[in-house]
This record gives sequence, C-alpha cells and structure tokens, in this order.
Amino acid sequence: MKQIPYGRQSIDKDDVKEVVKVLKSDWLTQGPMVRRFEEALTKYCGAKYAVAVSSGTAALHLACIAAGLKKGDEAITSPITFLATPNAVLYTGAKPVFADIDYDTVNISPGEIEKNITKKTKAILPVHFAGLPCDMPGIAKIARKHNLIIIEDACHALGAEYKVSGKWTKVGSCKHSDMTIFSFHPVKSIATGEGGAITTNNKELYERLIILRNHGVTKDNARFTNFYSSIFPKETWYYEMQYLGFNYRITDMQSALGISQLKRIDIFLKRRREIASIYNRQISKIDEIEAPFEENNVRSAWHLYVIRIRKNRGLKSDRNKLFSYLRKAGIGVQLHYIPIYLQPYYYKLGYKKGICPQAEEYYQTALSLPIYPMLANKDIKYITTKISKFFC
Ligand SMILES: *Cc1c(COP(=O)(O)O)cnc(C)c1O
Repeated sequence: MKQIPYGRQSIDKDDVKEVVKVLKSDWLTQGPMVRRFEEALTKYCGAKYAVAVSSGTAALHLACIAAGLKKGDEAITSPITFLATPNAVLYTGAKPVFADIDYDTVNISPGEIEKNITKKTKAILPVHFAGLPCDMPGIAKIARKHNLIIIEDACHALGAEYKVSGKWTKVGSCKHSDMTIFSFHPVKSIATGEGGAITTNNKELYERLIILRNHGVTKDNARFTNFYSSIFPKETWYYEMQYLGFNYRITDMQSALGISQLKRIDIFLKRRREIASIYNRQISKIDEIEAPFEENNVRSAWHLYVIRIRKNRGLKSDRNKLFSYLRKAGIGVQLHYIPIYLQPYYYKLGYKKGICPQAEEYYQTALSLPIYPMLANKDIKYITTKISKFFC
C-alpha cells in the first residue's frame, strides 16, 4: 500500500545543480556559500544579521548562551513544542518553565507567561506552533516590562507573517524579539538536510553567535584581549579563544541547497496554504472534528495541519482510534506534541502532571494530517475521504 508521509522535502534540478557546483569547487565548508545563505535569509526575513549553523537545535543552544542564560536563571516556554526548545535551556544550566497555551491558537498565552515570571526569569522562548505566529507584540510588551530577552523558536514558521498597525511583519525580522531561530530539517519550510539559523538585529549578539559557532575563536584584531604580550598578538596568524564555543558550522553544500530552496519558498508556502484550505473545506463538513485556527491578522506558514477531535460525541470521537485507522490506511498522521514536562526525563527533574491543563487537554484531542508542497490533490482527497468514512 502507498504510504503518505506527514511531511517531506521538495528537491528540484536546480537544487541538485547548486550542490554539485559546490562539490566541484575549492570549498566544501567555510567557503563563500555560508555568507551568501545568511544574506539571503536576512533579506527574506527583514533582519539585519543571520548566523547559519548545523541545526535548529544548535541555533537554539547558541541563542540561549548568547542571551546569557546560566544556572539559577529561568526561561519560559511552551509545553507544546519539540524537545529541542526546553532542552537548549537545560544545556545552559538554566531552568525551563512551562507556561500554558491558548487553547485556540495552541501558542503560548501571554497571560500565562506573565503569571510565571519570577525574580529568576531571564528569557521567553515563544514557539510559533504549526507555523502560526504567536502574539509577538503582546509578548514583547511583557518582556519590556520585566526586562527579559525573547528568543523566537520559528522552526515551524519561516515565511509566516503577522500584522501590526496595518503592516505585515515577517517572523524572523526580530521586530518584537532579540533573536529568532530556524530549522532546515527536511520536514520544515526549506531543507538543507540538517541545518539551522539565528536572525537578530543586535550587532553584539551577532558577533557573539559567530564566535560561538566556531569554538569561541576570534581572529578579529579589534576584539583581542592580548594579556600575554609574549604570545605574539600582533602577528597575522594570531587568534584567541574567548568563549567555550562549539563546532556548529554549516557546510557550503548545505548553504548552497538553502539558497536554492529559499528562492522557491513563496511557491512552497502558497501550496501549503492551498492544501490547508482544501482540508478546511472538507473538515468543516465533519461535525466531530475541528479545523486549525487562523486569524485575519496572521498568515501561518502551515508547517503542520492539526485537527482536533471534539469530545463527548460518543465512541467515534476517540482520537486514538482515528489515529490508528488512518495509519492502517497508509496515512502518516503524527502527534505534535506530548507536553514536554510529561517526558520521563522532565519528570525526574521534578515537573509534574497538571502544570498546563490546556496543553494536556489539547494533547488528548490533536492529530496532524500530512502537509507538504508535493502532496497531490488526489492524496488529499484520499485522506479526507478516509476521515469522513471513519465518522459515518
Ligand atoms: C525541528 C524543530 C527544532 C529543532 O530543529 P533541528 O534542526 O531538528 O535541530 C526545534 N524546535 C522546533 C519547534 C522544531 O520543530
């Protein structure tokens, strides 16, 4: 039987050509393509700076370090996200604090963020779930009031937009945050295999991120601290390690693929929107389930299409039964996500059930349908027909 995945990349001839070009060039990594990919990202998102790295997780980790997170600090995030978001906070020794979601948008609720702020809070990590932008002006207002850093996890949301006083703003412009991070894993908006990036408008953060990506090493004369004059700081080969950095570099092959993919992002987004509206039409005919939410002042990147089963409608409203029925039909449905603090590792750290009731309720009812640019109309029809059959 044919298997339909929940997400997958779209690679064309130009993508292949661009990667092959790099393979035949002098540089496989640390060549000219990384810079060019970063420039393309800043242009697309409308931010001043971008730092491309080896994954979205690496981007989160570096952003948390650059933000100064450390042991004794707290960072507030959503429980409905991929594990990497709060894990990056843990890597720095700081403590992730989970604020409940808004049930309609599935995004972190600004009111819940405010309730969880303590003297130790240093950062907020809003996650644009499924590609739907969070209330960034609202979150920025809270951050300003309490002097907090904002790191947007936009792994689902490259290309998403929101409207503020009549003007559209792209996620990643950092108009309402300090840094925004992206992932280019094959299921995300654009693919580089593994890959990620951080955008920012802050020069100081940008320079710190560049250094942290490469072992904390700088060759910039202006940044040298030079406290041993006997180690030749004036020589051209001289370099300094100033932070405990990492090898989070992205290759030129990946960057070339990223540049080529980014040229087609608006085509990808258009098709994702089209698929979502076909689903919306079909789903609205089925009483037992609810379509995802989109307001007029936001444009989702439609990374995920999450339906929810309405409760108290008898046996047919069992999400688990629908899930296995669709899987048996070859449809790669998924569950995004188990509330993070219910994971055994987080349990051992002392997080208990009940922290975020809305997130737990959402988790009981949600199911992600396949969505990706190459998903054929006949496959969408097959999926929606199967769902209808289940409920009749
Ligand atoms: C994919 C994803 C990440 C991690 O990205 P990788 O590139 O896989 O490391 C982080 N946060 C969210 C919300 C994601 O979906």
